[in-house]
Amino acid sequence: MPGSIRVARLFGIDINIHISWILIFFLVVISLSETIYPDQFPQWSRQKSLVVSAVTALLFFASVLAHELAHSLVARRFRMSVSSITLFLLGGVANLTREPPSARAEFFMAAAGPFTSVLIGVAGILVALSSDALLPTVPSLQVVGAVASYLGEINLVVAAFNLIPGFPLDGGRVLRSAIWGIGGDRTRATRIAARGGQLVAGFFLLLAANFFFGFDLQVFGVELGPNQVQGLWYGLIAYFLFNAATQSLQQERLTNIVGTVRVGQLMTTDVRSTTSGTMIAGLIRDLVLPMNLRAIPVLAGDRLIGLVTIGDLRKVEQDRWSITPVDES
Ligand SMILES: [Zn+2]
Repeated sequence: MPGSIRVARLFGIDINIHISWILIFFLVVISLSETIYPDQFPQWSRQKSLVVSAVTALLFFASVLAHELAHSLVARRFRMSVSSITLFLLGGVANLTREPPSARAEFFMAAAGPFTSVLIGVAGILVALSSDALLPTVPSLQVVGAVASYLGEINLVVAAFNLIPGFPLDGGRVLRSAIWGIGGDRTRATRIAARGGQLVAGFFLLLAANFFFGFDLQVFGVELGPNQVQGLWYGLIAYFLFNAATQSLQQERLTNIVGTVRVGQLMTTDVRSTTSGTMIAGLIRDLVLPMNLRAIPVLAGDRLIGLVTIGDLRKVEQDRWSITPVDES
């Protein structure tokens, strides 16, 4: 993803931070140190409040990372390779190099993230409750209780948000795996789940408009008043979700078209050579697999510039096939 910085490498996976995350970090620190902690603990000094807020924000960051790592490690168990994790505005994205191989794989992979957030959430609340109980004897536990209580709640919110059944949110993936598993048709399942994603985006847009212009809507008996910042948040969520859902629809349509066209239909002539600049993925699909060729001449115009062999192609990792031209192998 452009605009992201590599900060670590865990379990062989690159951990990146998108620049938007730095903004979120400061927003979380400011809202904690200016509002949430001073309201709860007016006796805390500004300095103490700020330090505790920064620690809380870092732990929040770590729990979002744990959520993404859970997705990635389960994905790997099902033999999907994960190259990197990028933490960005609305959480994280684990970059899978291909779609899940089965409905079962997708279900476990998608559920692992929210499951981890729920675990951290429950643990946080348990720690907060026990430190509150011990507070009269150990006063220094107040800070632990405050941090644990915030982390507990925010992780449950993260789990709940991600479980909204709109693809490509985790809940949408769980929904897709269920439809896929029952009906056996991934394309149809993606279509339904992605439409769900667009619908959820529409709902968030409605909420955003409500916060912005104060329609005085009531949702489940909760009164929603005008609040511009909240409105901006929901607007951003709506925008990202709609884009992602629409992209998933288009991508599924594309793989479907390419997947159903026979190799013979793609090739007009019986060429047994390739041209400079052809991607390895195309070479394998069009020449190596259908014709079982072991070595293919590479042409630039009418000039022969080299020969690419199966051995050369093996040296390039499979997930780079679609972006590596034959010249580089
Ligand atoms: Zn997730």
